Amino acid sequence: MLKRTGRTELLMRAVKLTAARHLELMDTDTPARDGHGVIISVSACGICGSDLHYWKTGLDMCGKQGLILGHEFCGRVVDPGSRNDLCPGDRVTALPLDPCGECTPCTTGHPNLCSRGLTRAIPGNNSPGAFAQYLRLRPDMVRRLPDTIDDIEACLIEPSSVALHVAHQAGVKPGDRVLVIGAGTIGLLCAAWAKIQGASSIVLSESNPHRRTFAGEFLNTDALFDAGDPHLISKMKKATQGSFDIAIETSASDAGINTALAALKTRGRLVLAGINFHPQSIITLLLIIKEIELKAGLGYTIEEFDQAMKSIADKTLSVGYLAGRTIPLTDVQASFELLASGSSKEVKIILEVP
Ligand SMILES: [Zn+2]
Ligand SMILES: [Zn+2]
Repeated sequence: MLKRTGRTELLMRAVKLTAARHLELMDTDTPARDGHGVIISVSACGICGSDLHYWKTGLDMCGKQGLILGHEFCGRVVDPGSRNDLCPGDRVTALPLDPCGECTPCTTGHPNLCSRGLTRAIPGNNSPGAFAQYLRLRPDMVRRLPDTIDDIEACLIEPSSVALHVAHQAGVKPGDRVLVIGAGTIGLLCAAWAKIQGASSIVLSESNPHRRTFAGEFLNTDALFDAGDPHLISKMKKATQGSFDIAIETSASDAGINTALAALKTRGRLVLAGINFHPQSIITLLLIIKEIELKAGLGYTIEEFDQAMKSIADKTLSVGYLAGRTIPLTDVQASFELLASGSSKEVKIILEVP
């Protein structure tokens, strides 16, 4: 392995989740070459909302300690493993997935729902991720990056794929009026995809004033509302002169879901895209009396990841603006504390790995 730590060839710098709300920068073993996996030297990695969930508990997806987080990354090939088409130095990203390819979801085109997910090696979720100098990847998940995608944009391919899957679940058609609840990374990207799919109006609702300002500056929305406003529903209905065809809920809050139910038209469609580990209190009566169609989105398919990468490369989808700032590995703990405070000005923070 290349010498980057200045200490020994076998160690690298990495940030591990060692306890609840505690990330520690330490030396750890570099991933070994096995002639199969692609080893990359990580260049950059985004901090995701799901990373914050793990940080709060101190445990990975399978309930274990010591995870190296990070699944929104890019880097350069060090060892191409079994990928004969890759050379050392190639800029790449990868789908942080490990679908079994054999279960019913996998064989019917839904690898995002692989029923063996918990027993597979998913980088940054239950196997080492990219908050580290080196990372070993499943060869068929690695994608060479086009020159038109810089390192920051490359880290946003993965969240863009999540949002594209939600937009597909929402089935946005030209002319649809779309409400997006939550103006974090996924909410903003869902709004952008809905616009690309032809939505005639996009309305955003968000409680964090910094994020509202950010969304107003960078995203072409028709209206932006304070999710905490007691007159939210009537104001939204006035602004759109009616109700919404589609609502996309990314806040995972009871209030967010109930706002969506109240603001949707009869037979409108609600897509849940936020993760909440607790039972939620939602007004099912609204669902029933309006015959609202309820859907959900988790992850993305291989094709959606490739489509997101292509749309960023050809500038159909703009994502660079989402990254407010970049930080070194030493600042990861402070950045998680900031993001967990809920009042952060940042939408997406990207870690740059030297
Ligand atoms: Zn993510
Ligand atoms: Zn499977």
